[in-house]
Amino acid sequence: MVLHYKCPHCGSDMIYDADTGKLACPSCRTRLDIEEMDVPREPAGEATETVTWHCNNCGADLMALPETAATTCSFCGAGVVIAERVTGDQSPHYVIPFTVSKEEAIKAFKKWCRNGLLTPKGFMTADRIKSITGIYVPFWLYDLNSRARVNATATKVRTYTSGDYLYTETSYYDVYRELDLHYVKVPVDASVKMDDRFMDRLEPYQYSGLKEFKPPYLAGYLAEKYQFTDAELLDRAKNKIRSYIESAIGSSLSGYTTVTRMSEDIETRNVKSHYVLLPVWLVVYDYDNFEHNFVMNGQTGKVVGKPPLSYGKIAAWFGGIAAGVFLAMKFLSLAMGGGFL
Ligand SMILES: [Zn+2]
Ligand SMILES: [Zn+2]
Repeated sequence: MVLHYKCPHCGSDMIYDADTGKLACPSCRTRLDIEEMDVPREPAGEATETVTWHCNNCGADLMALPETAATTCSFCGAGVVIAERVTGDQSPHYVIPFTVSKEEAIKAFKKWCRNGLLTPKGFMTADRIKSITGIYVPFWLYDLNSRARVNATATKVRTYTSGDYLYTETSYYDVYRELDLHYVKVPVDASVKMDDRFMDRLEPYQYSGLKEFKPPYLAGYLAEKYQFTDAELLDRAKNKIRSYIESAIGSSLSGYTTVTRMSEDIETRNVKSHYVLLPVWLVVYDYDNFEHNFVMNGQTGKVVGKPPLSYGKIAAWFGGIAAGVFLAMKFLSLAMGGGFL
């Protein structure tokens, strides 16, 4: 079964509106408060591998892949939510709705290409953007508890003079530390399609923006359901906190001249994990007969990807500035800075 949100006044397709945070009708400007809407709690049918659905607008029969939770009709563009994939035990716990609109995402794409200043000739004028798609990407948010037990030997060295003599006094210590560490909302993306490196670099999301999940947030966007369980991704979550545990141990052992760690026992437990959908803008553009991706955090506007650069134009630009190498290097690092892979 598909959930298809029709305007109660004029019958147009309603979509989630990033500017107002409401379900909006693009024709008559009717807006509905999603938090007050009723949603089906139980699955309307089996979440089978591939589902076929019928578009009420244009009558087309369409297929939705096993991971699709929300999609659009390829004939008339109507946005629908696949009910079985977002209800019952398939229901996300929370969602961060889009706050960056499609217009803002396109504007940001152009700015990111520096309005063509450094991109190859014709890049900005040609219609390079093949598609711009708002996708809700499935993530697990882990609350983790780590217990670390560390044995070390340490020394403190003190030197002082007395009379004609310089004394060095070394004290030896057996050190034992037990740390109880808590990490909340460690995100790991649970989608096969999205590149993990991209997803990690889109962080951080502001978790104060988490809303209790309701299907209308997905209206007009694509959404995927998780393709890995929280148990399957636990190791990735543990890896993400490894360096924090390391530095917590390090600072618990400060104050000595030397520290030699003899043994270290770290146990990390998954206290709780939440299934959430996080907003991502995916821009596919075409350059040099290749497709390139640019992704943007749909909540904060942070951009990850790499625009094509014209080395001729970069040279000309620096030539115009005609300053020393130092300045050129500085500009180059500025030009290359921010969010590049
Ligand atoms: Zn309407
Ligand atoms: Zn249709």
